[in-house]
Amino acid sequence: MRSGKRVAVIGAGMGGLAAAIRLRLMGFDVEVFEKNGQIGGRVGRLEESGFTFDTGPTLLLMTDVYRDLFKAAGRTLDDEVDLMPLDPNYRVHFGDGDSIKVSSNLPTLIPELERVEPGVTPRFYRFMEDACMKYRLGRSEFVERDFEKAGDFFGPRNLKLLLKTKAVNNYYKSVSRFFRTDKLRQTFSFQTMYLGLSPFEAPAVYALLPYTELAEDGLWFPKGGMYELVLAMGRLAADLEVKINLESSVEEIVVDGGRAHGVRVNGETVGADAVLANADLPYVYRELLPSSAGARDFRFKLRKREKLLYTASSFMMYLGLDRELDHVSHHNVYLSSRYKENFRQIFAERRLPDDPSFYTNVPSRTDRNAAPEGMESLYVLVPTPHLGENVDWEHEGPAFKEKIYDLLEERAGIPDIRRHAVYEGVKTPQDWLSDYNLEEGAAFGLGHGIFQVGYFRPPMASKAVPNVYFVGASTRPGTGVPLVTIGAKLVAGRMGREMLGLKAPVGA
Ligand SMILES: Cc1cc2nc3c(=O)[nH]c(=O)nc-3n(C[C@H](O)[C@H](O)[C@H](O)COP(=O)(O)OP(=O)(O)OC[C@H]3O[C@@H](n4cnc5c(N)ncnc54)[C@H](O)[C@@H]3O)c2cc1C
Repeated sequence: MRSGKRVAVIGAGMGGLAAAIRLRLMGFDVEVFEKNGQIGGRVGRLEESGFTFDTGPTLLLMTDVYRDLFKAAGRTLDDEVDLMPLDPNYRVHFGDGDSIKVSSNLPTLIPELERVEPGVTPRFYRFMEDACMKYRLGRSEFVERDFEKAGDFFGPRNLKLLLKTKAVNNYYKSVSRFFRTDKLRQTFSFQTMYLGLSPFEAPAVYALLPYTELAEDGLWFPKGGMYELVLAMGRLAADLEVKINLESSVEEIVVDGGRAHGVRVNGETVGADAVLANADLPYVYRELLPSSAGARDFRFKLRKREKLLYTASSFMMYLGLDRELDHVSHHNVYLSSRYKENFRQIFAERRLPDDPSFYTNVPSRTDRNAAPEGMESLYVLVPTPHLGENVDWEHEGPAFKEKIYDLLEERAGIPDIRRHAVYEGVKTPQDWLSDYNLEEGAAFGLGHGIFQVGYFRPPMASKAVPNVYFVGASTRPGTGVPLVTIGAKLVAGRMGREMLGLKAPVGA
């Protein structure tokens, strides 16, 4: 089915790919322009010396979102990707050397919680009940809605729901009502870092994150890594005749007479009836649209674009080790002994933390193909501030890397790690900026404070240039692979309504 309308998509991240598939299913002719030589954006893959790493996301949650996308195209996700449930989800290591195995399996989890905090079980169940309400209402009323008009967001029903769920209370204080020990408060609060947010500043609604891991659909690992999901989407897009151009950086959205007429790539204009920007939204306003568009679209917003707040970023190490790590899990979280101070240094002081928390992922523990025999692929993510004047990565980066090697020896129990690292890859916030045009090098995009979510988050359609739309982490509903995939459905639905007069997206 072809409508005769053309859409140019800027970026082949998960948002761009999912939207391209949905738009094509509606009958649009879709052409995607991706600056890099690989699709998937932040959901990237690195293959070196026999080691395979996912370079960004490693936690697969809310698989119903991807199932829904494939179903819309008449496919079944499980035929395309080998999804493996993980148990345990991960091990959390505390600053004093103690650790806890976090599992979706209650007979495993409850004794672990009781060991750390005797008598906690009824309070844990109350936490889950509260988090479940936040998840259910948050998802249906706030995440899976577009808020085209202010009235859609500010209606009495929504205000009542916000009060009922105490969604805007402080996250850490809210978690502390259920757990008495610092250890369990930390175990159920660090997850806000998935959104690049401090639990000491995040709204309580994000209790839905630990809930999603433990209940609902749980935590999954696609055999071969997260990139298998990208490859499956790439195959689907190709079957649907979505044209994807790699190494094709868009230089400008061509605007004339208040409307977009296409995109300029390699000095040539490619015409389109609408442009869908998957590249980071603040970058698109700054670099690809006329400055008058940003000025107009952000005039009535609470904060002007220049004052938007950004998520944290991350320092990454991808290590190929010539030894096995029998003692570590697939996912491991190492929390700083100065948990709160670590967040303060990242978010308030915006400097490199002295005693950083960090996360490791060892895919070869689950999938032996991820590393040569007898070896291991080790992915290390260390939350850091986004780019700013307080960190000089050129000078501080090398010493920070050595600090992380020391921590891997001391806390992850990998002695003499430098000698075992036969491959080393490193990424700093500067690389997040140069690789993907992420504004401020913020690995997770725009922040998710209370005034940058829901109706307050930059919308999916420009008012200044009405046929320019957005999809991805820095527009609605927010960051994280499932959320941008939901956003793709919302924006495709809107484009179908506005451009083709369709009532609902195909497969909805
Ligand atoms: C280290 C890390 C770990 C993460 N872990 C998780 C996790 O475990 N689970 C999870 O759900 N989420 C996780 N996330 C978040 C998740 O990766 C993002 O929210 C999501 O992938 C964003 O997708 P996107 O489509 O919005 O953007 P992107 O992936 O950034 O895609 C945008 C694309 O646009 C391209 N582009 C930019 N400028 C241009 C241009 N001028 N012309 C053409 N193309 C252009 C970019 O190259 C990129 O490919 C993580 C993120 C990071 C960085």
